[in-house]
Amino acid sequence: MQKPNERLAGQTCIITGANSGIGEAVAHAIGMEGANVVVNYRSRPEEAEEIAHNISQHSKCGDAIAIRCDVSNENEVLAMFKKTIDHFGTVDICIPNAGLQKDAPLHEMSLKDWQYVIDVNLTGQFLCAREAIREFIRRGMRPEISKSLGKIIHMSSVHEIIPWAGHANYAASKGAIVMLMESICQEYAPMKVRCNSIAPGAIKTKINTEAWESQESLNKLMKLIPYKRIGVPEDIGSTAAWLASDESEYINGTTIFVDGGMTCYPGFTQNG
Ligand code: NAD
Repeated sequence: MQKPNERLAGQTCIITGANSGIGEAVAHAIGMEGANVVVNYRSRPEEAEEIAHNISQHSKCGDAIAIRCDVSNENEVLAMFKKTIDHFGTVDICIPNAGLQKDAPLHEMSLKDWQYVIDVNLTGQFLCAREAIREFIRRGMRPEISKSLGKIIHMSSVHEIIPWAGHANYAASKGAIVMLMESICQEYAPMKVRCNSIAPGAIKTKINTEAWESQESLNKLMKLIPYKRIGVPEDIGSTAAWLASDESEYINGTTIFVDGGMTCYPGFTQNG
């Protein structure tokens, strides 16, 4: 049995959008399990370098580097995988996490804002998953390292099932992640690839500042969360580390909701 904090020793993981919020916490949690970590960023390299430095300092047996790449750009994604493989030898775990919102009522939503969100949140996840699978197949099984050929963990959202007025582009991108993830599972599980999603509820990050910055907005948010606390990025980090490890080996093609019960329709608590 592996010792605690070494569940991912000898493995390499790319986490996109890892210079803030959930991606940062996931990178840290994966690094603390002994994996080599690629901290992907699109802007603000100093944050990514500092996170990578911090992981390298604290990891028992892994290392971390920062790599710039816009996940919606195919050539940049190819280059990120090439740099990772040149540096660490292979990729065992891919966590496409980068995401953003461009909110507007649907009748006012520009095609540009629709496309931008789909390009980053959906196409970016497709490009990263495709490159990961290509590398898993090229490298082949290493039973001494993991029982799976490779692991993909898509960062989805409760909005893969909860419709979201005023955010149709975002909700559509996350709804599509379900079919992307399940189709990948169906196609590559026979080769021992595991592909799952994490669907966070409300997690305190930059993406949703207006939902928690005032007491009033926080009180409003609590009506949506049966567990009565906002999530923190570490809630997602610990889930991702476990889902990437062999402890969850038989979990494939599913979404793990990490939402304090948000998807249990709390609006119906008082009989609807
Ligand atoms: P965040 O804004 O802190 O992080 C998003 C990261 O993605 C940032 O580092 C940003 O620079 C990066 N990014 C954006 N476009 C990129 C691109 N083209 N290429 C590379 N990186 C890019 O927000 P977060 O809350 O940490 O969000 C992370 C993921 O979690 C997103 O996919 C988001 O949809 C999802 N999520 C968040 C919440 C929440 O409540 N915070 C809930 C559900 C799902």
